[in-house]
Amino acid sequence: MSRVYLDHNATTPVHPEVLEAMLPFLTDGFGNPSSTHWAGLEVAPHVDRARASVARLIGAKPEEIIFTGGGSEGDNMAIKGVLMRAGKGAHCVTSEVEHPAIYSTCKMLEGYGFEFTYVPVDKYGIVSPVEVQKAMRPETALVSIMFANNETGAINSIVEISEIVRQYGALMHTDAVQCVGKIPVNVNSLGVDMLTSSGHKFNAPKGVGFQYVREGVETVPLISGGSQEFGVRAGTENVPGIVGIGAACKVAMREMRKRHDELGAMRDRLERGILEAVPGVVVNGHAERRVYNTLNMSFPGIEGEALMTLLNQEGIAVSTGSACASDSGKPSRILGAMGLDAVRSRGTLRISLGYGNSEQDIDYVLEKLPPLANRLIEMSPLGS
Ligand SMILES: *Cc1c(COP(=O)(O)O)cnc(C)c1O
Repeated sequence: MSRVYLDHNATTPVHPEVLEAMLPFLTDGFGNPSSTHWAGLEVAPHVDRARASVARLIGAKPEEIIFTGGGSEGDNMAIKGVLMRAGKGAHCVTSEVEHPAIYSTCKMLEGYGFEFTYVPVDKYGIVSPVEVQKAMRPETALVSIMFANNETGAINSIVEISEIVRQYGALMHTDAVQCVGKIPVNVNSLGVDMLTSSGHKFNAPKGVGFQYVREGVETVPLISGGSQEFGVRAGTENVPGIVGIGAACKVAMREMRKRHDELGAMRDRLERGILEAVPGVVVNGHAERRVYNTLNMSFPGIEGEALMTLLNQEGIAVSTGSACASDSGKPSRILGAMGLDAVRSRGTLRISLGYGNSEQDIDYVLEKLPPLANRLIEMSPLGS
């Protein structure tokens, strides 16, 4: 049976160059980078080099890069680190479509004396800068708006939002987990103070990420203890992971253009093919303002879950939404915020492309998916 992986927004395979870069640090290069003997002295420069590669990819200074345990940690670091520093009563503006690492963290902190405003999105899943402006208060310490959405690929106007946030003297954080390594990300042109990235979403391993923290921005450490990572993130460094994410940044820099063109063309061909072969299908999100690798579609009157299961039997891995929410069985909060009704929401499939996908993968999906979808639609009491 063919195996086709089209769930790159959930996680990605490790790139061979990344693996190769990491391997020495799982064998001889085991030293603790804080040690001042040979074992530590040998590995410490590799952590510095990885930091420089990360910084180069996003236009930051190496001292502004903090290695973390991934996207969820970075998101928590931004929200908790800034609000705890600002103190009780501090206000934070975020959106209704954030990843649970932001959204659930904010909901939880409502019980600890902090205040939150969740700005709505339009029917494309995009946050309006005007809505952010309306939500700003004198005591707003932080605005956290994701760069691109993990379910729809919708891209927000971070430049415009950062501009507003600066006028109010608050800090601007963006969850750029779905952007780093895929589309150009430059912290200076974006105007953000903090930015979160996760290695496993762009061909580095799981359990490593980085946080951009603009020079001069002070936060309370999420993980306190030792003085690693400029005293902002304690704990012995995950050297293999850090070297891996550094290598992934180099690969991304080199291949970004090519991937954009090739994978984007494949995504568009897949979208056209499905729209032609399955009557009643609609694409969720904006036609242009979305990441080139993501396709979110609703099939009329059926359960996305059922289609996903049938596709899995053919070796095709896709998702019904975010991997983190799809086991809860509830319709997507993101699609709900976009105004989709529960039926359309439930009939949703998220297909996300990435490194390793080929034209043959698209051919295979275009052969298997339409008959399966059409059969489910025919059987559905709600079908068109
Ligand atoms: C995957 C993801 C995260 C969480 O990253 P982890 O490294 O898995 O903790 C956060 N935000 C977005 C938008 C994501 O897609």
